Amino acid sequence: MRDTDRALVQAATAVAKLRCRSENHTVAAAARTADGRVFTGVNVYHFTGGPCAEVVAIGAAATQGATELETIVAVGDRGRGVIPPCGRCRQVLRDYFPSIRVIVGPTDAPRVVSIGDLLPETYVWADHQIEPAAEPVPAPRPGD
Ligand SMILES: [Zn+2]
Repeated sequence: MRDTDRALVQAATAVAKLRCRSENHTVAAAARTADGRVFTGVNVYHFTGGPCAEVVAIGAAATQGATELETIVAVGDRGRGVIPPCGRCRQVLRDYFPSIRVIVGPTDAPRVVSIGDLLPETYVWADHQIEPAAEPVPAPRPGD
């Protein structure tokens, strides 16, 4: 944990304390760019599947033109402390920021792990963007 990591946990904790005061918003996230900009977000709970705080923070960063996030952390409301990203967020983080650092662990001993450690051997979304074959693949003939 670097000093900037501890500051990121403090930022998410402050947002959780200040903005997560209803069942609609129960988790805050803070994400930092390599150049030190910090973006925060809270989850938007809804039975239709509202976004987690991490995704909202990614959107907030993108809104300001920050598309390369280096580190992210989520903190729960009511003093729950640092909470790890859910499976969906792990996939989003891995696809958007393959080398992002994620702060996890108990609040009194948080640690940094790579998104690859949190979601190893995953489906790679970019695979669907493979260039089409230069020449058309011949259709199989009967008997092939
Ligand atoms: Zn999530």
